[in-house]
Amino acid sequence: MDLEEKLRILGAAARFDVTCSTRNSRMLEEAVGKGGFSFPGIYRTWSEDGKCLPVLKILLSNRCVYDCAYCVNRASAHRPRASFTPSEVAEVTMEYCRRGLVRGLFLSSAVWVSPDHTMEKLVLAARELRLGRGFRGYIHLKVIPGASPELVREAAIYADRLSVNIELPTEISLRRLAPDKRREDILSPMGEIRRQEEAHRESGVPSGTRHGFAFLRAGQTTQLIIGATPENDLEILRLAEGLYRDYGLRRVYYSAFFPVSEDPRLPALREPPLLREHRLYQADWLIRRYGFRVEELLGGERPHLEKELDPKSAWALRNPAFFPVEVNRAGYEELIRVPGIGPRSARRIISARRLHSLDLHSLSRLGVVVSRARWFITCNGRYFLKRDPDPDDLRRELESGGHGGERGEATGQTALFDAGEYASASGTWGGSLSGEATGPRKEGLTASEYLRSVAGGEF
Ligand code: SF4
Repeated sequence: MDLEEKLRILGAAARFDVTCSTRNSRMLEEAVGKGGFSFPGIYRTWSEDGKCLPVLKILLSNRCVYDCAYCVNRASAHRPRASFTPSEVAEVTMEYCRRGLVRGLFLSSAVWVSPDHTMEKLVLAARELRLGRGFRGYIHLKVIPGASPELVREAAIYADRLSVNIELPTEISLRRLAPDKRREDILSPMGEIRRQEEAHRESGVPSGTRHGFAFLRAGQTTQLIIGATPENDLEILRLAEGLYRDYGLRRVYYSAFFPVSEDPRLPALREPPLLREHRLYQADWLIRRYGFRVEELLGGERPHLEKELDPKSAWALRNPAFFPVEVNRAGYEELIRVPGIGPRSARRIISARRLHSLDLHSLSRLGVVVSRARWFITCNGRYFLKRDPDPDDLRRELESGGHGGERGEATGQTALFDAGEYASASGTWGGSLSGEATGPRKEGLTASEYLRSVAGGEF
């Protein structure tokens, strides 16, 4: 099989992994493919600060010895199979870079022969790029569950980011749908990566300079499939909170389950739970960036996030005693709990009010979604209504998006976050769900691209 055919198969297969928050760069592929040779596998990814980075996103191999029920590449699936050699990965990456098509590599793989066999080849590819070819671009490597600690340690030397996909929330679900995997095989490499990060921090060597390479500059991430198993949102968010705390993960990516087979172990969903996934991303963002605890958002009596309302607005409605917040005096922690005020606008408020007192009009200029925030704030003791709002009216207003068309405001449920910050929070797909088109969110997946992108599992 020639390289182009391998690229076609393994580039297409890699799109099922969402842990590098990418979208397929079809426009770029088409533009450079006119000369005959096409360039599959080009995706765009976004850094935490919202910068766009084109990457080559491929699998090393889609030949899998495991048989996870939810995955298109499971051993029992009938589909074209291919594998790169490590040198071929290095060659293709350098060629794409020379042509200015990409500035990084996202390399994942099915479990080819065994976890160590696969991991060794992933590491060899990264090593050849760094040592043999002087590659200084971005490398995101997938760590194969069950790979030995020595290989994980070497992967950490060459990679900017590593990810081990946890996939299913509980051991029971893993046994049911991915019987070849053990939870311990997933958590052990995560722990090893954490130890490597800590050792690197304690060494005092500036980030990105150990051995002259990136050394986990972008940390580790994971992916969790939503809706293939019966766990509720509370269990999922508790797991995510634990992963952030115990393993120092940068991101947990939630991937709505999309049925790819008739396997009777899988739920018969008519459509993937995209809205649920969206709410989980919002709640996750509140936990990581706004200081919310899972227990503030959900509880035993309320184990699922509301469909109709974003989790921050839902929390605000349940906690009327917290409001109104006086914007000319409140601290940062209070301000970011107000629907319509995010970290960025809270910082701007604190800075601007040193110079002058703020009213609704000036808040709008600072990026506050005033149509939502006005229900929860006072400006110099003044509330925009003459009386307290009726709770049902307020809920209806928030469910409808709570926007009155103010200039420059984000719309829809995602408006609870600063638009730019949310773009990086939701990776690449947020815009398609709300219709919002602000900043980098214009790059969001279309609904159909997104559906395809979540069709698989971890590689
Ligand atoms: S999820 Fe990964 S390990 Fe499981 S069948 Fe797919 S490629 Fe193989």
